[in-house]
Amino acid sequence: MSIETRTSIVWDYAPAPESADHIRVRERYGLFIDGDFKDPADGRYVPTINPATEEPIAEVAYGGPDDVTAAVESARAAQPKWAALRDLERAKYLFRIARLIQERARELAVVETLDGGKPLRESRDVDIPLAAAHFFHYAGWADKLCYGVNAREVRPLGVVGQIVPWNFPLLMAAWKLAPALACGNVAILKPAETTPLTALLLAEICQEAELPPGVVSILPGNGDTGAALVREKDISKIAFTGSTAVGREIQAALAGTHTRLTLELGGKSANIVFEDAALDQAVEGIVNGIFFNQGHVCCAGSRLLIQESVHDEVIGKLWQRMGRLRVGDPMDKNTDVGAINSAEQLERIETLVAAGEDEGANRRTIACDLPERGYWFAPTLFTDVSPAHRIAIEEIFGPVVSVLTFRTQAEAIEKANNSRYGLAAGIWTDKGSKAFEVASALKAGVVWQNTYNHFDPTAAFGGYKESGFGREGGPAGLRPYLQVVR
Ligand code: NAD
Repeated sequence: MSIETRTSIVWDYAPAPESADHIRVRERYGLFIDGDFKDPADGRYVPTINPATEEPIAEVAYGGPDDVTAAVESARAAQPKWAALRDLERAKYLFRIARLIQERARELAVVETLDGGKPLRESRDVDIPLAAAHFFHYAGWADKLCYGVNAREVRPLGVVGQIVPWNFPLLMAAWKLAPALACGNVAILKPAETTPLTALLLAEICQEAELPPGVVSILPGNGDTGAALVREKDISKIAFTGSTAVGREIQAALAGTHTRLTLELGGKSANIVFEDAALDQAVEGIVNGIFFNQGHVCCAGSRLLIQESVHDEVIGKLWQRMGRLRVGDPMDKNTDVGAINSAEQLERIETLVAAGEDEGANRRTIACDLPERGYWFAPTLFTDVSPAHRIAIEEIFGPVVSVLTFRTQAEAIEKANNSRYGLAAGIWTDKGSKAFEVASALKAGVVWQNTYNHFDPTAAFGGYKESGFGREGGPAGLRPYLQVVR
């Protein structure tokens, strides 16, 4: 006789798809210049694809050099009036944008998920609310700028060019635009080629907020559009978030010019689990650290460092927890891991995972039914990784975690710092003193204790070493958009 116990019940979820009926996506988007959508000078439109279905969503203009020049001219004309507004007036526009993002939150979340492949739960609960929070936060700073820079007298830089990647499209746009505008600058934003849509909806929001024409321009396009923006002479500053390789090119292009630069680049962040940590909590943090947004996160905890004495226990719990991750339709509200953002990114992940296997690491990938169309990669765990393996060194930017071990605190610090990057780190321990000691020895811009991937508009974010320079968020995020007069 078999006895059914509660633990033998297999729980499953009914499908919970979000509807896309309420969204307003146009068939075609021009370039947002001088407060309106305009055709590109060379007439080039390129479809943007849903990576979960490979179906086109809309056609989007690509900005060429003439369009970039037109945007700069409109921005230059707008900047003196924008900077001359009373600080509280500028703040009002930022508040309006924040409120309009909140009003259109459901629509923005769906469009973010359709265009980029991230689970709706994340765009709805993280990307869009945080984007609104950034505008609220910097609206509050607009009339307190001097207090953000030690009570010095400050003035704006002028026209700034901002280039963002595809992993947090609207959120990265908010990180860039909100502090720049609060400081009295005007901005030209270049979204990434695979995810331009929420930036274009933000252009509509700027219109709804009656932002003066030229204060924000949005120029979708590819790397050539970004490079044309970097080459513009009349730009006071470039703020770039993206890969270290492109960051290096931009830095070389700007060497010897008057244009200021901040770079937010890649990472290979260490997530360190000590034997005295609350291990179940740590496992949740490991999962959030690497599988959030399919691992397309610059600060992802992609190098997991586990103290040897608890290695087997942590790996056992982690593997069990990974088995419960739901991979698939990003529009389903129960989905944990959505689609890989593009065919190129999928290929990059596959290449590095193959290198991990070739170099002798032990690969485990969870079994799951993946949709036939679209770009997918199931959550993957590598153990027996040596610090010399490519998967321990290079940014995979996918749902793949590489596990290394350590015996002592000193070894943990040495291994964590053994990277050309220095963006973030996580420390899991019950001892506050140990967390402080390790955190101050780590060369990482952000260090989380007993949590991971926790973002807040009031906190500074940025890197060391090849993860870039400059800070975004909080009062530190004002500094790169201001010059100190005295
Ligand atoms: P990418 O460098 O290929 O592209 C980023 C942006 O730069 C895109 O808009 C692209 O069109 C543009 N671009 C490409 N070539 C250019 C050029 N020569 N001149 C000017 N612009 C150019 O990066 P990606 O693949 O879109 O994004 C992934 C990378 O971004 C990862 O390395 C990730 O770690 C990094 N990232 C960093 C942060 C951070 O805050 N540090 C945040 C998110 C992503």
